[in-house]
Amino acid sequence: MVAPPWIAVPPPGYGGVEAVVALLSEALVARGHDVTLFAAPGSRSTARVYPLLEDAHPAEIGSSLFESDHVASAWEQIDVAAEGGLPFDVMHDLSGFTALAMADRVNVPVVHTIHGAFVRETKRFYRRHGHKAHLVAISRTQAESAPPGVQIDAVVPNPIKVDRWPLRTEKQDYLLWIGRMDPVKGADRAIEAARLADRMLVLAGPVQTGQEEYFRKRVEPHIDGRGVKYVGEVTGVAKQELYANAAAVLMPLRWREPFGMVMVEALACGTPVIAFPEGAAAEIVIDGENGMLVANETEMAQAIEQIGSIDPERCRSSVAERYDIAITLAGYEHVYRRAIDPDRARRISRSRRRARDPRRRPAKPINGR
Ligand code: UDP
Repeated sequence: MVAPPWIAVPPPGYGGVEAVVALLSEALVARGHDVTLFAAPGSRSTARVYPLLEDAHPAEIGSSLFESDHVASAWEQIDVAAEGGLPFDVMHDLSGFTALAMADRVNVPVVHTIHGAFVRETKRFYRRHGHKAHLVAISRTQAESAPPGVQIDAVVPNPIKVDRWPLRTEKQDYLLWIGRMDPVKGADRAIEAARLADRMLVLAGPVQTGQEEYFRKRVEPHIDGRGVKYVGEVTGVAKQELYANAAAVLMPLRWREPFGMVMVEALACGTPVIAFPEGAAAEIVIDGENGMLVANETEMAQAIEQIGSIDPERCRSSVAERYDIAITLAGYEHVYRRAIDPDRARRISRSRRRARDPRRRPAKPINGR
């Protein structure tokens, strides 16, 4: 399992992918699989853990310097294991882009989980390199937005261990927005909806590198400690309590959300989610059952007034039924087996070789030589 090099597993605070890696590794080990985890320093797991770099890099997410170092070092370890007579059967990459781009340079079948949204640049990337691994999407909507020619092998949702989250049926008055301070996640729109509904809003989450200006201009001016409160990045029990006591979690997303762990975490605590129907929000939120889907801030404010009609127990069961770790585990076991199956691998590699011919032509120089 190749985790990203940025944040330890499990994440001390913010960290969606790291939370997925933590649960999945642990579940695979509990099922009797032999799992080696390449992850950021500070990681803990029942799997065998190898931190490959000296430090975690939470403030440098996406830096090619650290990602390439991490992936190349993982490749080395994969070779060393094979040379030592204990080759890996399959590699599961959740680390970013470098590993997929180089997946045809490592002597083990690769399963790659797509974490981001398909936008212009990532569509091009997956068109060029997607054939090098067995691609897994984390929601149906993400799979459906894959560009032509990119074959998605399976949809496996991100997991949650529902019994690790407290169910609370009696709620307090405040509304919660939680996430990274990126405009796509809509902290500013949550502020507007809460203002229209005349309700108190708690904001939680880190201001990551590149998000400072948005935070300073669109969020900070509204923080007054009464109507709008900002509690920074939250972790552990404090985070769980914040979810569990909230009247509702607001998700005024403006991007094709590939999954959205915070919605699933809120629901596990019996807290309804009011979301814009962007990407996987429209899958996770069942309108009228575990929350409400609304088109804009005005509708969100109206939904806030109706939110008492949503049953907290149903919120929790709606995620237990669909996103429990057992479901994710079974999904990935199936993908791993298919990736390992030599007949299928041979068939795929033949058909993909044909399919990728045009991509493998030597690049043409632009100066005609
Ligand atoms: N998170 C956290 N503390 C915070 C804000 C977020 O631990 O202050 C966690 C949150 O619980 C979730 C993850 O960060 O597990 C965010 O994942 P999500 O899929 O919602 O968003 P993205 O990966 O797009 O940032």
